[in-house]
Amino acid sequence: MSDRAPALIRVRGLSHTYEPGAGEPVPALRGVDLDVHRGECIALIGGNGSGKSTLAKHLNALLLPTAGEVIVDGLDTRDRDAVWAVRQRVGMIFEHPDDQLIAAVVEEDVAFGCENLGLPPTEIRSRVDEALRTVGLEALRRRPPHLLSGGQKQRVAIAGVLAMRPRCLVLDEATSMLDPAGQREVMETVLRLRDEGLALVLITHSMEEAALADRVVVLAGGTVALSGTPSDVFARDDVLRRLRLEAPPIVALARGLAAAGVPLPPGLLTAPQLADAVAAAYRRGRGGA
Ligand code: ADP
Repeated sequence: MSDRAPALIRVRGLSHTYEPGAGEPVPALRGVDLDVHRGECIALIGGNGSGKSTLAKHLNALLLPTAGEVIVDGLDTRDRDAVWAVRQRVGMIFEHPDDQLIAAVVEEDVAFGCENLGLPPTEIRSRVDEALRTVGLEALRRRPPHLLSGGQKQRVAIAGVLAMRPRCLVLDEATSMLDPAGQREVMETVLRLRDEGLALVLITHSMEEAALADRVVVLAGGTVALSGTPSDVFARDDVLRRLRLEAPPIVALARGLAAAGVPLPPGLLTAPQLADAVAAAYRRGRGGA
């Protein structure tokens, strides 16, 4: 990916202040800059109230800037005539799978967004088929959504968004209500979509999920506190601790092993990477290859 390729989403100087009817205004975002490129997965992490959801809602014009701008595929989210085009390009998946499913059977649910776009029925049918294939749920197309597992429900929600042919998927804590198997199936699905060119913005409390992203952006008090590759960001223990965040357990384990004298390369993020590096160090220690 070239740094010079134009960003799919360009956020510049974005500030957002909530003005609750009663009480003081709440400055939730303060001068945030962010670029999201095609085929890139960005993990957005930060403590509760750091502004992650507020930023996510700006990416598809659910909120509009108090100051600054959000440009999606050349469209300014403040342009009233562009709102539906922006929402079609940036799909959102939220935390609670049940809140997002409305129809009596899976395939009707997946078709819902396309119907709102006013597409012809034959086009909708072919898009629904394709989206169900993509998330691997063709066999369940006639099932009532409430009989599915949490991970399957989130994949139905993802299929509904995919059928609208978005350029970017924003997942706001989309795996937090799921069991480990459900989390894995949703992550495998969305990372496959990233590999096919979709941009992903993943809001997560899971540092293991953040470690799978191409870039990690850390929000604190409505500003970007840190941004970089997962290895760069998780190496900044000082900043993470101050923000009450922690590197993934594998990173902490690799650091502990290195401190104990095991010769490991820097930047290990996942269990398979650490296992390979420890095995290589062990073989070297025994004089093997
Ligand atoms: P996060 O997703 O990181 O938990 P949010 O974006 O939800 O953070 O919230 C950022 C700040 O904005 C918090 O102080 C939160 O209380 C406040 N906030 C969020 N939504 C509203 C709202 N609708 N009205 C007033 N304040 C809000």
